[in-house]
Amino acid sequence: MDALTAKNMMAYVAQKMVASEPVLTKYDQAIGDGDHGIGMERGFKAVAELLDSDYQPEDVSKLLLKIGSTMMATMGGASGAIFGTLFRSGAKSIKGATELDTATLSTFLAGGLQGVYDRGGAKPGDKTMIDALVAAVEKSEQLSGSLTDTLPAIAQAAAQGVEATKDMIATTGKAKTLGERSLGHPDPGAMSMAFILQYMNEYATEQVTA
Ligand code: ADP
Ligand code: MG
Repeated sequence: MDALTAKNMMAYVAQKMVASEPVLTKYDQAIGDGDHGIGMERGFKAVAELLDSDYQPEDVSKLLLKIGSTMMATMGGASGAIFGTLFRSGAKSIKGATELDTATLSTFLAGGLQGVYDRGGAKPGDKTMIDALVAAVEKSEQLSGSLTDTLPAIAQAAAQGVEATKDMIATTGKAKTLGERSLGHPDPGAMSMAFILQYMNEYATEQVTA
């Protein structure tokens, strides 16, 4: 996938993330402070504006870097820093990439994960977006083939990561104060992570309904 197609894919992702605000809000109301959906909506609205313009990304890395910077500048909250860092660190790990394929996506996700570790200090099992991201990274590293072949499984692995957060007790972020009462609820940031990959998958495999 070239940079222009990746731009169009991310425009689709941004539009779908904006539309996901109510469900993300609902889950952050259960275990957080209820602002996660609004934050993601604000960030991805700004991303959608960028990508609906005549902005011409030089390459895939620059595109993803710009998306991360846009999110960081507009979102605020823990997830502004976390998702902004995911895109920015991931983009830096694929510097100069002119194509987004399974290998570059895998490197992007792994680089983004490392950035999130460095920035936020959380680890797998802490009931955060890391639990969806780690599952996606691990799956992507096992796979080869075109994005159309591999994105369904990568997105599904992330969704399973979200499911797994239901059995975790939050040890970081706003949900931490809930302790065992966070059990049974999925983590909203993990859900956002899985949605991003799911919407990339929809675009890449042309299951676009909107
Ligand atoms: P806030 O916690 O400031 O209200 P949001 O509600 O927008 O921010 O985002 C909460 C989400 O951010 C959580 O569901 C979790 O997935 C993610 N998160 C919070 N802290 C961390 C961290 N240190 N590392 C990774 N993800 C985190
Ligand atoms: Mg919140």
